[in-house]
Amino acid sequence: CGIIGVSGVGPAVPRLIDSLKRLEYRGYDSAGVAALVDGRIERRRAKGKIRELEAVLAAEPLNATVGIGHTRWATHGAPTTTNAHPHKAGRVTLVHNGIIENFAELKAELAAEGHQFESQTDTEVVAHMIDRELSRGNDPLVGFKTVLDRLTGAYALAVLIEGEEGLIMGARRGSPLVVGWGEGEMYLGSDALAVGPFTQKISYLEEGDYVGINRSGARMFDVGGNPVDRPIVQVSASS
Ligand code: GLU
Repeated sequence: CGIIGVSGVGPAVPRLIDSLKRLEYRGYDSAGVAALVDGRIERRRAKGKIRELEAVLAAEPLNATVGIGHTRWATHGAPTTTNAHPHKAGRVTLVHNGIIENFAELKAELAAEGHQFESQTDTEVVAHMIDRELSRGNDPLVGFKTVLDRLTGAYALAVLIEGEEGLIMGARRGSPLVVGWGEGEMYLGSDALAVGPFTQKISYLEEGDYVGINRSGARMFDVGGNPVDRPIVQVSASS
C-alpha cells in the first residue's frame, strides 16, 4: 500500500525502511525491499510489521545505494512472505500498489510461453512482461510502455532492472506516485510523505505518466509516450 524508491549515493536500505515506516499509516500486512548489490538484485521480505523486515535485514543485510521498498495490502493472494513484494522475473524486480484486473488472462498467456510463477499475486505478471520485453531487445522504458498499455486496472509501480545500474522506472494510473529531487540523488514515492525524509522538492506524476529516474535526474513521459516535464514544487517539511 506504499512505495519508495531511492537512486542515491549513500546507504539506500536504511532510508527505504525509514520511508516505509512513514507509510505505515496507510495500513499493510507485509513489507519488502529490493536493492542492487554488486550488480545483482537481491530481495528481503517479511509478513507482518516493518520490524519483522528489519529483523530479516539484520540477519542478512543489503549494502546498496539503489533500491525499492513496499508495504503490501493484499488484494490477490494471501498475506504471506512469498506473495510479499518485490516480485522478480529474470532481470526485473518490482513493487506495485493497486490491482491488475486482467492479470489472469496475462498469466495464462505467459504460462503458455513457459513462464513460471512463484506467487498468487496479480502483480507478478508485470515483472514477467517487462522481462519479456527486455529479452526481445527492447529499451527498458520502451518495453515498459508496451507493458503498461496492456494492463487494465490501477497501479503505481517502481521497477529495478539488473544491468541498468541506477535506473528505477515508475508509472502511475489510479494510484499516486511522486518523483523526489535530491542533490545527486532521486526518489520515487507514493506521496510527499514517503520522500519527506530526503527532499521537499516533488514532481507529482499525472494519470498515465511513466518515468525513469537515475541519480542525476528524471525522464518523464505522458500516457501517449511523449516526453513531459511535470513541475517541481516545494512542499513543506512537515507534509
Ligand atoms: N494487488 C497487489 C497485491 O495484492 C498489490 C496490493 C497493494 O496495493 O499493496 O499484491
